[in-house]
Amino acid sequence: KLENATAKAELGRASWKLFHTMMARFPEKPTPDESLALKTYITLFARLYPCGDCARHFQQLLAKYPPQVGGRNAASGWACLVHNEVNKRLKKPEFDCTKLDYDCGCGEDEKKEKE
Ligand code: FAD
Repeated sequence: KLENATAKAELGRASWKLFHTMMARFPEKPTPDESLALKTYITLFARLYPCGDCARHFQQLLAKYPPQVGGRNAASGWACLVHNEVNKRLKKPEFDCTKLDYDCGCGEDEKKEKE
């Protein structure tokens, strides 16, 4: 089958959206188990991403920039950095990581679960 750049870009946008939103929702003070879960998720995401070339490049990026899973700020900043590395390779503009604003739309459900 031929490469379809539109589908590839759409998959990328959807994936990045989930990726960054997950970081924005990661606990500020995670338990070791939560940190391990995020690290495992990122490793498997990089391995299973459904575009072979992208997955290969992204795995190389993870080797160079190990996932930061110590808390929400570290994880969000790290995700922004690696996305910017992908942007660089694709000759896209750099994103200003001080302007991160990903919202899951799930309101206060996190707080409620803890009550
Ligand atoms: P995207 O890069 O998809 O970004 C979507 C939106 O996220 C932007 O509009 C902006 O609002 C925001 N954003 C941009 N940069 C950041 C940042 N640093 N931090 C937070 N938010 C940001 N495509 C290829 O052609 N070759 C590849 O090798 C390749 N590898 C990829 C690897 C991964 C892991 C992923 C998830 C995608 C990959 N893609 C690849 C797809 C590519 O990164 C883009 O998603 C796609 O080209 C669409 O680009 P876009 O300009 O719409 O913006």
